[in-house]
Amino acid sequence: MARYTDADCRLCRREGAKLFLKGERCLSKKCAMERRPVNPGVHPVSRKKPSEYQTQLREKQKVRRAYCISEKQMRHYYEEADRIKGKTGENMLSLLERRLDNVVYRLGLGVSRDQCRQLVNHGHFTVNGKAVNIPSYLVKVGDVIAVKENKQKKGSFASVRESRVIVPKWLEFSPEKLSGTVKALPAREDIDLNIEEHLIVELYSK
Ligand code: SF4
Repeated sequence: MARYTDADCRLCRREGAKLFLKGERCLSKKCAMERRPVNPGVHPVSRKKPSEYQTQLREKQKVRRAYCISEKQMRHYYEEADRIKGKTGENMLSLLERRLDNVVYRLGLGVSRDQCRQLVNHGHFTVNGKAVNIPSYLVKVGDVIAVKENKQKKGSFASVRESRVIVPKWLEFSPEKLSGTVKALPAREDIDLNIEEHLIVELYSK
């Protein structure tokens, strides 16, 4: 998959929303969305009203960029969600939230989803005691995600014990053990991204 290598903040400005791609900077006054919340490029303000397709496309790109996934993966989650009983849009967001890299991010074990994906790739975590290095691994209720014992004293993990990150209510975090438990599957109200998922469903179901 071709990786995006330009400035992350351009993505937020393009989507017109904070996607929280750069850790602490996103919560500071240095955030580009606080200083210059307009489209990047030579013509930052468009006078044309976006078409229905453009609106749907932008919503899909917003989700794809927030979760740092490819177009192929995004479509896969839509198709999976469509097979599950219930609302397709909500199912799709729930599947995305259950990705191991996202769970690591939600537990506060990394500063951004991109960093968490790298940490997972580099084999820093176990799920139910077994090493897992697949960022797209889907967690289920009862799973215990933990930092490997031999990695706990390394780098950023050492400071996580002192930090008090608020984890979503479908997860439980133990700072002493540097581990988290999945208490329930994430519901729509647990996902704090400002997304109109029905627009993505409309786009893919054409
Ligand atoms: Fe940049 Fe983070 Fe602000 Fe997005 S939310 S513009 S990535 S600092």
